[in-house]
Amino acid sequence: MERETGEDIPVLIVGGSLVGLSAALFLRWHGIEVLAVERHAGTAINARAGHFHLRTVEILRSVGLEATVRHKSEEQYPPDGGINNVESLAGREIANYFPNLNAGVDEFSPTIRLFINQDALEPILRARAEELGARLLYGNECESLEQDADGVTAVIRHLDSGARRTVRAKYVVAADGNRSPSRERLGVGMHGHGLLSHSITIYFRAQADLGPLLRDRNQGVHYVTNPLMRGFFRLDRSGNAGFLVVNLVGDTSRPEVVAAYPSAPWARVAEGITEQRALELLRAAIGVPDIPVVIDNIAPWRAMADAADRFQVGRVFLAGDAAHVVPPNGGYGGNTGMQDAHNLAWKLALTLKGIAGPGLLETYDAERRPVGDLTVEQAFTRYVTRVAPYLGTDDTQPLVDDFSMEIGYRYSSPAIAGEPGSPPLHEHPRESQGRPGARAPHVFLDRQGTQVSTLDLFGGNFVLLTGPEGRVWHDAAAVTAKELGLPLDAHVVGGDDLADPEGRFPGAYGISPSGAVIVRPDGFVGWRATGAAGAPESVLRQVLKSLLCRGNGRP
Ligand SMILES: Cc1cc2nc3c(=O)[nH]c(=O)nc-3n(C[C@H](O)[C@H](O)[C@H](O)COP(=O)(O)OP(=O)(O)OC[C@H]3O[C@@H](n4cnc5c(N)ncnc54)[C@H](O)[C@@H]3O)c2cc1C
Repeated sequence: MERETGEDIPVLIVGGSLVGLSAALFLRWHGIEVLAVERHAGTAINARAGHFHLRTVEILRSVGLEATVRHKSEEQYPPDGGINNVESLAGREIANYFPNLNAGVDEFSPTIRLFINQDALEPILRARAEELGARLLYGNECESLEQDADGVTAVIRHLDSGARRTVRAKYVVAADGNRSPSRERLGVGMHGHGLLSHSITIYFRAQADLGPLLRDRNQGVHYVTNPLMRGFFRLDRSGNAGFLVVNLVGDTSRPEVVAAYPSAPWARVAEGITEQRALELLRAAIGVPDIPVVIDNIAPWRAMADAADRFQVGRVFLAGDAAHVVPPNGGYGGNTGMQDAHNLAWKLALTLKGIAGPGLLETYDAERRPVGDLTVEQAFTRYVTRVAPYLGTDDTQPLVDDFSMEIGYRYSSPAIAGEPGSPPLHEHPRESQGRPGARAPHVFLDRQGTQVSTLDLFGGNFVLLTGPEGRVWHDAAAVTAKELGLPLDAHVVGGDDLADPEGRFPGAYGISPSGAVIVRPDGFVGWRATGAAGAPESVLRQVLKSLLCRGNGRP
């Protein structure tokens, strides 16, 4: 077969599912030309991810998608749902992990956590990415990646015609899933807890009303624990359709079952699964032996808890399930992957635009790999607690609370001007108060009569915020940014443009009214000064060069 001659593209994305689409969208948001190639003919056909965390929805808000996503979520799921554990839908409630997904959320964020199915979210991401100019090639497979000092050469094969083309990219984002061929080719190993079970997801519709069984307690997600099986339901707003994940079969509370681990037959649910067996499991989980249900699909998958040893090899960056694969308990997989893409996009953009130094891209691994490792452990802890207590707690981390996991993880890298002391990897958002490396806190402000969140100021350029007595920082920022060729926004919070009606901003960011803070394009605090400084231009010049990993030789 003849090969088409190459085309040049700044960033090639391998994989066009949740994380590949997110990477395409975020890179276009920063004005970078991208090409994403995806083997499948279109976006996801199965629901899979459904629980989206606060940070993810904040990111979607920053690229103009919050309203669309919330609208879709409300169509699909009960808005005040949560996560509980039941013997069966008809049976007793054993635990309630989240009585209401959004309890306490408004203290920390202008947005909410939500449920939306992956097969409904992906078309929204795709439409926005294409609207912004992303090129997405479905039905195409990346066959090889070869890198040299200047770029990466990829061979892309059109699956229907077999036609091959070469693409030359400056950088590659490998968002090609948990079996990542790119990761394999690069020889990057994985570490963690390995394979946990050969699970299945049963997509179904009940032909009877499950409402009376649910007794007005449709939570959205229901774990099921009974002597026949362990797994979880995700039920749509009607309560009559959705999916049942089955991770384990049999009574895993029995000691002889525990003793037989790890050659566990009860963890090989997918092996030889038939529709009849799936129906038995589904009915046992519903708790009514002969209830009429239709099974639309049975998808086998492997529950794993592993992270890649490296997230970057030269010009190739691993993101999403290619970088970390977790059991779905806690809903971490897709969220963490989308946040990988968000962390990487602005770094690639500023590097490609010649604004950042070469070291900035290395901070992707430095920042996201520890978060990946933490996430794998915390998802494993939730898997053991909610699904597989027989695994015991010797090998599990203590549970980190959900706010700390979602908006409290912290970065430590040359792209953060850290403060003295050893920073924790995660912190409750009430504690972090704008500490460099933390997600910049949410405070409602008033812009000429319209309520905006501090978070609405971030997502594009670097942003300098000062307190009401910090105009000197604000003025110095304009001069320094021009000198460095860096697009930078500056605001006096509590000044003419942005009122701080309750005077909350300085305290929330841990500065005095004359202090300042620099927030990176991903909404994380890069640096702060608690008060005024003698030579603000020189301070800012040094700080910004350091955050951009620019060497001393460059202006
Ligand atoms: C039952 C279940 C429930 C879940 N629930 C949640 C949840 O509530 N919240 C959450 O955040 N996550 C959840 N997840 C996890 C989530 O689905 C994954 O983390 C997410 O899909 C990862 O996205 P990805 O784009 O990294 O990888 P994938 O979705 O695996 O996509 C990778 C893509 O790369 C393509 N590809 C691979 N190789 C090539 C190649 N050589 N060339 C071209 N294309 C290629 C594949 O075709 C695929 O489409 C759940 C998963 C399961 C199984």
